[in-house]
Amino acid sequence: MIEQQSIENKNTNNSDILTTSLYNLRQSAGRLELDDHIIARIAEPKEKIEITIDPILSNGETAHVKAFVVRHNDVLGPAKGGIRMTNSVTMDDIVGLSMEMTWKTSLIGVPFGGGKSGIRCDPASLSPEAREIIIRSFTRGIRRHIGPEIYIPAPDMGTNEEDMGHVRDCIAYSNGTSITKGCFVTGKPVILGGIVGRREATGKGVIFTTLAACEKIGIDITKARIAVQGFGNVGMIAAAWAAKSGASVIAVSDITGGIINEQGLDIDALREHVKETSGVRGFQDATETTNNAVLDAPCDILIPAATQSQITKTNADKIKAKIIAEGANSPITPDADELLNRRGIFIIPDILCNAGGVFVSFLEYTQETQREQMTYEQVEQRLRDRMVEKFDEVYNYSLEKHITMRQAAMDIAVGKVVEGIYSRGLLP
Ligand code: NAD
Repeated sequence: MIEQQSIENKNTNNSDILTTSLYNLRQSAGRLELDDHIIARIAEPKEKIEITIDPILSNGETAHVKAFVVRHNDVLGPAKGGIRMTNSVTMDDIVGLSMEMTWKTSLIGVPFGGGKSGIRCDPASLSPEAREIIIRSFTRGIRRHIGPEIYIPAPDMGTNEEDMGHVRDCIAYSNGTSITKGCFVTGKPVILGGIVGRREATGKGVIFTTLAACEKIGIDITKARIAVQGFGNVGMIAAAWAAKSGASVIAVSDITGGIINEQGLDIDALREHVKETSGVRGFQDATETTNNAVLDAPCDILIPAATQSQITKTNADKIKAKIIAEGANSPITPDADELLNRRGIFIIPDILCNAGGVFVSFLEYTQETQREQMTYEQVEQRLRDRMVEKFDEVYNYSLEKHITMRQAAMDIAVGKVVEGIYSRGLLP
């Protein structure tokens, strides 16, 4: 079978996100003894769209931008997954990330499938006007592929709440209506039907699962030292909530570099500094260091919350943390994963650890569909309950089967998608 061959042929030493996703799927398919025809169905996306947009920007220049939309699987519901905007994103990245979304939505128990979009351009190089033009142009280009029953985008690396507001407006404007019928996009501003607490949901979820892990392996959070790679939506909130839980955040990095203070960084002051200067570098009361030095800082808990393939076989041996909480998607390559497991480091896998965002997106989706309003406290309570419940489910399964947390999370998630395939029936 062609699809099966394509999984087998992927080189697991490569460090791209699709390779990691296919490697994890292949391992899980083996443990679950899945049939070849089922593996073929879930290894390949259901739909891949590549578009080119050439909008004229406000300075008179024409942009030439590639964009991708992938619906990996919709057996359990419409595809769900964010829009990534970076200058290097590829179709393969979006395929890998959409596959991760299929497992994440399945594991966290929301009625969605997996999808993802990518816009290949550097958001830092765009003026706010140019950025809005590109987001609107992208939305018009993929309009036929978005919908509450098809694919519902959200923010991811390089995009934010404001961008989702433009997506929502662009669709309503094209329809000639004030609102859309159902939820076309999540992570919108609250004033436009977004949900309170969505912005913080992924980072908070990372900390809820980290606290659960600390409890299992006997780490007192008030004595824990934490290092965070990436100080964007996920990393910044995770750092703030770690500090709020009593931990000491000693090292932080972003694309501009790293900073360290073994006595603990003032995260509120750091957030202000980043707001003013657009980076962590130059923060007072800290020593400047490299991004790599943050990964192997002398800490108890490491939160990679930047991008994929940051922990590889070349730096895995240097990591000192006892827990790694994967805020980012696929931050650890398969070979590094094996090395870390051998060293007994407790890894909270991405499809569990950073699933808080998609869980609260589901609350936004239901709130908009039912024209209801949830309070911040209700959202937080539901998020906390779901993250802890799913952490426990994965943890208990890993003990029962003598497998790692990643293996347990994958087997539960893949198993549910396969059950969905058989329940729907194999015929189209
Ligand atoms: P973001 O764009 O808000 O922030 C990314 C941060 O990482 C920035 O501080 C950037 O400077 C830093 N960064 C980028 N490359 C880096 C590098 N090589 N070394 C150090 N720092 C680097 O993005 P985000 O939304 O916080 O997403 C971060 C990760 O979390 C991504 O892998 C994303 O897919 C994943 N994720 C995000 C969400 C969400 O709700 N936003 C949900 C689930 C998973």
